[in-house]
Amino acid sequence: MLLYIHVPFCRSKCRYCAFVSRPLDMAEMEVYATVLPLEIRHFGKKLNRPKVETVYFGGGTPSLLPAWALGRILPAITRHFDLHPAVEWTFEANPDSALDVEYLRSLIGYGVNRLSLGVQSFSDASLAFLGRPHNAKTAMAAFNAVRSAGFANVSLDFIWGLPGQREATWLEDLKMAVRLRPEHLSCYGLTIEPDTPLAAQAESGELLLPPEGEQGRMYVHGAEYLEEQGYLQYEISSFARMGFQSRHNCGYWEGRDYLGLGPGAVSTLSGVRHENPRDVRDWAALVKAGRCGLGGVALSREERVREYVMLSLRTAKGLRLSIYRRLTGLNFIKENEELITALRQNELVRLSAGHLRLTKNGFLVSNLILERLRY
Ligand code: SF4
Repeated sequence: MLLYIHVPFCRSKCRYCAFVSRPLDMAEMEVYATVLPLEIRHFGKKLNRPKVETVYFGGGTPSLLPAWALGRILPAITRHFDLHPAVEWTFEANPDSALDVEYLRSLIGYGVNRLSLGVQSFSDASLAFLGRPHNAKTAMAAFNAVRSAGFANVSLDFIWGLPGQREATWLEDLKMAVRLRPEHLSCYGLTIEPDTPLAAQAESGELLLPPEGEQGRMYVHGAEYLEEQGYLQYEISSFARMGFQSRHNCGYWEGRDYLGLGPGAVSTLSGVRHENPRDVRDWAALVKAGRCGLGGVALSREERVREYVMLSLRTAKGLRLSIYRRLTGLNFIKENEELITALRQNELVRLSAGHLRLTKNGFLVSNLILERLRY
């Protein structure tokens, strides 16, 4: 099983953010750090101290958890879950709250062995546009602090397709990242989520994004550059040095069971999906009343097939045709014969060894391909 812990606090809200996060409030932090160990204990007992292969602290900004909160929450995980001896335990951090080497060392002491740092860009203008509370100098200092603390598995997050960015400036960001030799890189295209300040700016016509062709070159040439530098692309936005793929994320894409704890966290266990209340106090009331994890919804066969197709086509391994046939009794290629022939002619998909895979150019237009496929 995969274990996800959601930390819903951030220094401030970034302009593009649609995640469950709110500005840090110490009264809410106190509630959170008191109630989360109760939820951990509840599920540890309910699931009979389940085996866990990966733990992921995401957010929000987990590195905003004060030392006293870490001391309440992290030991509860090892107490109530049976962690695999080679567990992958990731902790997300933002540069402005990942500068204290002692704090970072304490994470390692609790068992965390992978750190994911939200750098996003090395351009101060881009960081200001995104509403991030750090600059490039802080990002570098945080990376150095993370290495000094002893983290041997570090992932850096970046965003491409930003206003004012060009292929050359994006490649410059990647070159700076590669010079640091992180084990893993996640590179996301900027998406405009509804109800964000960025969406309002786009609606008013004030958002000038790089032209489509330029964005396409950023994605494809960026991915090629990373592969030349030894970072294998194993998913649409994920690149890793050999052996450093995120096992937690691979677990999601493979449709494995995951338990999500904390406000707004989602779980899928044995085909039943459940989402916690997003509000810290609503979530806390439910946990305190012993009512957490109730009221999940069983995924229908159609939903499971849909998720399998959408998630598998995000990965470099691609969609395994025999799994699709087992789930549906149908032949995926026959169902989509005309479209797949056209996509192959345009080198957007490849068929080999019983898998259908998107090429780099295919990844770039994956949403359009998924819209047209029948499944
Ligand atoms: S740090 Fe991440 S979760 Fe927090 S507001 Fe920014 S984008 Fe959202």
